[in-house]
Amino acid sequence: MHDRFPILTWHSINVLENTYAGSDLIAFAEDLQLLDSLGWTMLPLQTALDQLAHGKLPSRTVALTADDGSRMDFEEFDHPTCGPQNSMVGLMREFLSATDHRRHQLHLSCFVIASPEARAELDRTDYMDLDVWPDRWWRPANESGLISIENHSWDHNHGSLARTVQRENRRGDFRWIETFEECRAEVDQASDYIETTSGRRPAFFAYPYGQASDYIRFDYLPRRGPDIGLKAALGCEPEPVTLASDPWHLPRYVCGRDWKSPEELASLLRNL
Ligand SMILES: [Zn+2]
Repeated sequence: MHDRFPILTWHSINVLENTYAGSDLIAFAEDLQLLDSLGWTMLPLQTALDQLAHGKLPSRTVALTADDGSRMDFEEFDHPTCGPQNSMVGLMREFLSATDHRRHQLHLSCFVIASPEARAELDRTDYMDLDVWPDRWWRPANESGLISIENHSWDHNHGSLARTVQRENRRGDFRWIETFEECRAEVDQASDYIETTSGRRPAFFAYPYGQASDYIRFDYLPRRGPDIGLKAALGCEPEPVTLASDPWHLPRYVCGRDWKSPEELASLLRNL
């Protein structure tokens, strides 16, 4: 398996109860232990891609990502029904202090929604004004060395927003982002804001809902992505990354969809 590696994805906003199936935070903590105990090596996404390209990928390599960018990626949070929650970065630090981690370069690529207005509106409409989408943690996250803040679009073309950048205000599906102006608003504008706020320009874009129009995938990003600092884009097809993968639609596995228990993750990894 030197010719392929999986990218795994969690959503720290998915906390409904304090069980593996009910909390991506609990799943993430257990999955770190599982990956280590099964002999997998955790590398930063960029490092894994570089080593794959140069034929130097270690056997059983995995890259870790998180989507949507809730504060639970980086800050402890007092959840209204589940109580105090450690953050993803806190769980990474616990793993590092409890494990002989020398073969890993533990790192999480966090894909955040850029627009402050969209995040504030989502907080009101879907998250009971809990203030789960601030961006004050982006810069310290980048400075932590454990996290890179990456681009998950300007407004996710999210179905819960009253208005998005989509030209006809068709929301809830990212395949409707299919003109130059829409792509510029969803991708370039987001990278600009994230760079200003976090101190680092994103190198990766993750398609909201894992969806991409033909225009953004085959035209806009291949043509314009490198000029605006992007190296690749990530979808959610459940496959390993290989040299044959489209760099503007890299596949990923998603916790809760592609595995719901440590046993299912172990089985998924065995069958790569
Ligand atoms: Zn998302």
